[in-house]
Amino acid sequence: MAKLHLITYGCQMNEYDSERVAGLLKAEQYELTDSEHDADVILLNTCAIREKAEDKVFSKLGELRALKRTRPHLMVGVMGCMAQLHKDEILKRAPVVDLVFGSPAIARVGELVERARRARPVLETGEAPLVKITAKPDGASRLKSFATVMEGCEKHCTFCVVPVTRGRQRSHTPAAVLDEIERLAAEGCREVTLLGQTVEMYGRDLQPPTDLAALLHAVNDVDGIARIRFTTSNPFNFTSRLIAAIRDLPKVCEYVHLPLQSGSNRVLARMNRGYTRERYLDLIAELRDAVPDVAVSTDLIVGFPGETDADFDATLETVERVAYDNVFVFRYSPRPGTPAATMPDQVPLTVKAERNSRLLAVAGRAAAIRSAQLAGQTVEVLVDGRAKKNADELAGRTRCNRVVNFEADARVAIGDIVAIRITDVLPHSLRGTLAARVEEAVCLSR
Ligand code: SF4
Repeated sequence: MAKLHLITYGCQMNEYDSERVAGLLKAEQYELTDSEHDADVILLNTCAIREKAEDKVFSKLGELRALKRTRPHLMVGVMGCMAQLHKDEILKRAPVVDLVFGSPAIARVGELVERARRARPVLETGEAPLVKITAKPDGASRLKSFATVMEGCEKHCTFCVVPVTRGRQRSHTPAAVLDEIERLAAEGCREVTLLGQTVEMYGRDLQPPTDLAALLHAVNDVDGIARIRFTTSNPFNFTSRLIAAIRDLPKVCEYVHLPLQSGSNRVLARMNRGYTRERYLDLIAELRDAVPDVAVSTDLIVGFPGETDADFDATLETVERVAYDNVFVFRYSPRPGTPAATMPDQVPLTVKAERNSRLLAVAGRAAAIRSAQLAGQTVEVLVDGRAKKNADELAGRTRCNRVVNFEADARVAIGDIVAIRITDVLPHSLRGTLAARVEEAVCLSR
């Protein structure tokens, strides 16, 4: 068999796409290798969300140029968001590249690799019919899996390249999604994450239309699946029906990632986010009222063009008020082709850095208080492997996605659901002791 090496940058959607590519190429007699030095084909699955992510790819392509001198038959391909956005620049700046293809062409990766073998370079970045690909490589983790429920986005936030790179919004049918999840469950999957760029828009483009709440109800009925997550959300489309589904469906985890981006209405309008700070806070209140133990995380951008001290203070104040369990802060990075890139009043890097630190400090204090509340509590953990730093310990995640380590016990195997009493709250994880092997008996929140 020929050898395939995959390098994945960026989001969970890219991880999922890489897995599908590996599965499709397995059918063409390619096996995965961890080493680029014995690969016959190297594919870089790229991210264009920030300039830094793009720089990493060009730097990697520079390294691969040297490798190709020693392995002339090596084929190098670039896929994903950068491929869609910068195809011409990639070929110009990195002549080492033999193949460039966007996400819509993934289903045809076998044919594209074959074409590039005969005559290079091959460029494939147009639209293509929506295809549900369920191929997976050998040895892919079965315990926790992603399932794409929709592709693309039509929100057009002014800082974001996704509508250009991933195209218009298209949902897979409930039957196709359920078929994939039933197969995953039959292979031993216990936790499934439903993926979409704006996942709560799921189904609105289908005939007849449906929604994410209805899909969650259907997935909740799949035997073998113990936990359901979904990402990524846009507050604009988060409905009361969805909140009720999180509250009512036992397998849906009490964890919501709800990007705020900014706490200033002026900045939110310039971002074209479609909601206000007040609407966001109402949503959080409704969510916590329905699901009191829900964990909430968010994405925030500092230094969006025109962001004043007062705008930033509004973000600080909102973050303090919400008291998130986790935050992901990004310094605004202009993306060519997006409206925000040419907006006046770009914020200096030093100001972005300073706001970044202040925001992390405020968010960190709230997160530490929320974590501390877990001490002494008993939480439900899906055991997913050995602890990273101690092979005598097992590790897993709570329903709220926190890492928990505990001493290995002969009664517990990977894939089990156990009750763990939390003894120590550490900055990035929890430690505890086995309270019970719960399986379906108890459904503890958190
Ligand atoms: S909703 Fe998300 S994916 Fe869509 S344009 Fe906005 S930031 Fe990008």
